[in-house]
Amino acid sequence: RTVYVNGDYLPENEAHVSVFDRGFLFADGVYEVTTVLDGRLVDFESHMARLHRSLGEIGMSLAMAESELLAIHRELVQRNGVDQGLVYLQVTRGAADRDFVYPATGTPATLVLFTQQKALLEAPAARDGLRVVSLPDLRWNRRDIKTVQLLYPSMAKMEAKRRGADDAWLVEEGQVTEGSSSNAWLLDHDDTLVTRALSHSILPGITRSAVMAFAEEQGMRVEERGFTIEEAQAARAAFVTSATSFVTPVVEIDGQPIGDGRPLPAMSRLRERFIEESRRRAI
Ligand code: PLP
Repeated sequence: RTVYVNGDYLPENEAHVSVFDRGFLFADGVYEVTTVLDGRLVDFESHMARLHRSLGEIGMSLAMAESELLAIHRELVQRNGVDQGLVYLQVTRGAADRDFVYPATGTPATLVLFTQQKALLEAPAARDGLRVVSLPDLRWNRRDIKTVQLLYPSMAKMEAKRRGADDAWLVEEGQVTEGSSSNAWLLDHDDTLVTRALSHSILPGITRSAVMAFAEEQGMRVEERGFTIEEAQAARAAFVTSATSFVTPVVEIDGQPIGDGRPLPAMSRLRERFIEESRRRAI
């Protein structure tokens, strides 16, 4: 596999980042994951807009034109022959002697990109649905910034697996914030799609806003508000959204099946139509 590190395309085993990189020592960096369908990038501009927002929130900037970032994404997709999967991009504050104080201005950031080929469309969870467990949301309070500080989501996912489930839904002050790496939704008994409003408590998912726009175009109602685990368990349907999972049904929460415990056909149709639309939008 070819990866990109600070201006160079290299075989993955020849690519190196410093031991002193602040991404490694402080999780001082941000990332993006852009989906690849048919060798093309889904919602690329939105991912780059969020990247620049995340960077701004941690007092960083990346002096690279969007056209150049696009060229790097495309080059990696092409070199690695990615048909379906993702491009991962990470920017950290670079390498400097270990110190909580940021390095001097002029210290070059570290920019890394790599690809993963993945069968996103045939994911078993799309057919069978996900079983989730609720866990307290113990992350920091700036979850709107897409930082590489992912230990707690990783621990939560492991705890979910340990309990025989697929993933965790995180709960704060009695309401669901989001999934360990996805936004959380339900379909209520009035056929309204419900997902938590944006704030510092959740990541502004690119797929969340794309699904919201798509559903409204299709004449569905969308409401941005918080909900409890009990409300989701009693809903018509529940699901998650993320770049690589699109719309994926949740069929069980804390051992309680939702509806008949199978993905609601209406939700499977929403997934299919949303994927078709994503394909059309891809560049
Ligand atoms: N929430 C969290 C915590 C995430 O890590 C992710 C993405 O992986 C999402 C939501 C979904 O965001 P997006 O739709 O931009 O992939």
